Amino acid sequence: MSSRYDAVIIGGGHNGLVCAFYLARAGLKVRVLERRAIVGGAAVTEAFHPGFRNSTASYTVSLLNPKVIADMRLAARGLRVVERPIANFLPQLDGGYLKLGGGLERTQSQFRKFSDHDADVLPAYYEALETVADVLRDLALKTPPNAGGGLRALLAAATQGRRLASMPLERQRDTLDLFTKSARAFLDGWFESEAVKAAFGFDAVVGNYASPDTPGSAYVLLHHVFGEVNGKKGAWGHAIGGMGAITQAMAAACLEVGVEIDVEAPVARVLVDRATAVGVRLESGAEVFGAAIVANVGPRILYQRLIDPADLTPEFLKRVAAFKAGSGTFRMNVALSELPDFICLPGKALAEHHQSGIIIAPSLDYMDRAFTDARQFGWSRAPIVEMLIPSTVDDSLAPPGAHVASLFCQQFAPVLPDGRIWDDEREAAADLIIETVNAVAPNFRASVLGRMILSPLDLERTFGLAGGDIFHGAMTLDQLWAARPILGHGDYRGPLKGLYMCGAGTHPGGGVTGAPGHNAAREILADRGVIGRVLRRR
Ligand SMILES: Cc1cc2nc3c(=O)[nH]c(=O)nc-3n(C[C@H](O)[C@H](O)[C@H](O)COP(=O)(O)OP(=O)(O)OC[C@H]3O[C@@H](n4cnc5c(N)ncnc54)[C@H](O)[C@@H]3O)c2cc1C
Repeated sequence: MSSRYDAVIIGGGHNGLVCAFYLARAGLKVRVLERRAIVGGAAVTEAFHPGFRNSTASYTVSLLNPKVIADMRLAARGLRVVERPIANFLPQLDGGYLKLGGGLERTQSQFRKFSDHDADVLPAYYEALETVADVLRDLALKTPPNAGGGLRALLAAATQGRRLASMPLERQRDTLDLFTKSARAFLDGWFESEAVKAAFGFDAVVGNYASPDTPGSAYVLLHHVFGEVNGKKGAWGHAIGGMGAITQAMAAACLEVGVEIDVEAPVARVLVDRATAVGVRLESGAEVFGAAIVANVGPRILYQRLIDPADLTPEFLKRVAAFKAGSGTFRMNVALSELPDFICLPGKALAEHHQSGIIIAPSLDYMDRAFTDARQFGWSRAPIVEMLIPSTVDDSLAPPGAHVASLFCQQFAPVLPDGRIWDDEREAAADLIIETVNAVAPNFRASVLGRMILSPLDLERTFGLAGGDIFHGAMTLDQLWAARPILGHGDYRGPLKGLYMCGAGTHPGGGVTGAPGHNAAREILADRGVIGRVLRRR
């Protein structure tokens, strides 16, 4: 292997792979350096208990961009995403339940258990959300206009703003609401039932260390609906074989166009010469040089750990220190001997609610308490838990008759108060999460055969996520679009010549989208004067 490349990519997460693919397809010589023994970053499938495997971190797919799927021929490489029969199942405090999905009329009939008004208003709500989500979809593959980018940036801003300005005034108001309001304030404007508001408000606290009362939390709700599954907008699905099926197919696409991929190759330092990033030094001491150094790692990792502070300005370092990262997420994988038997919907035989996203967060007040408790104590005695049981739609993950579940839990302080550390408390938090599920499905605790625990600290250590942030940094208005990660560097270019960013810490942010990798590749190719060939399908 040579040690001089057109592009060296730090990190083999899905965005690193997408970026590598487009660069190599345009003729560049590309090398990906991944710290772990497998590529895929937070989108991987791994064994965690004898006979059981699961998507270790991210676990459900919707945001993956259709253009990326097509360009990398992921379907032809075996990727199959299946929809769940219904989207969500929410056990209620009063012993009832709410099911969401399976068609508009079905959801409306579920809503009628709580409020006729909420059922009647649902089509208009979906339409409003859908219209605004379309704008996000439209922007996802566009480079934000960069502050300080002169005429080109002004033109880009005007073009991108035109879509917004052409919407009816009513939809522009919805957009403003979604970008600025709290989830509760936004949902209060539509619905009256607490159960219905919780069903939609849950999306606002996923990966968002915030209360549904925090201004701006409505945006995170919107971020979770701009995807699609097999052309069905807003739907979430399961990748057969787990999320690793996506990134293994991506790696195959990369290899086909000549990308060199190294695993167990942690980068220790970005080499800088006269304000230009020229290469990287691995922890092994080996050096690899490239005309473009592209960081798939998040901004905090890149600028605080991999670059000598002397190579960055104090002003820039101050901004990086202020970049918010820490999504307050706790993740578990459990091996189960049987399916949960819910008090509100009894039965261990496979049913549609077992195949859906099972949400234990019955009201916005519950979610607010989870956050305020976490701020004070580290986590709440009543945590927010989402459980998916992927083996109910995919028999490749667990032995026959047994199951695997992903537990995705919110509002667990990225850093515990009073000097406590997660290593001392992760088991207790995991016990509480299992008890929380057990309270609504009393056979659950006894059915757990094995468990894998990922506290915020474990997420940082295992996946290189600063503060355990699932999105590489908070998805707040001050860290979005042209301001992601930092105003003046919203166009995938870093503050050093030759340095680029292609991960979730850039527009359009977190999730398994492939969009940052796609967009970064376009900018790198433009800088190399090969824009004419950029991203064009062969
Ligand atoms: C627990 C959890 C649950 C999630 N659930 C979902 C979900 O269900 N659906 C969804 O769409 N999104 C989900 N997400 C978010 C989504 O997975 C991420 O936003 C996305 O995977 C980020 O992709 P990326 O390629 O930008 O970065 P990453 O996936 O973080 O990849 C970065 C890569 O860089 C590597 N790296 C780090 N440091 C170094 C170094 N020094 N040298 C070399 N390599 C290095 C890492 O090992 C990693 O492979 C979840 C994330 C987590 C953590």
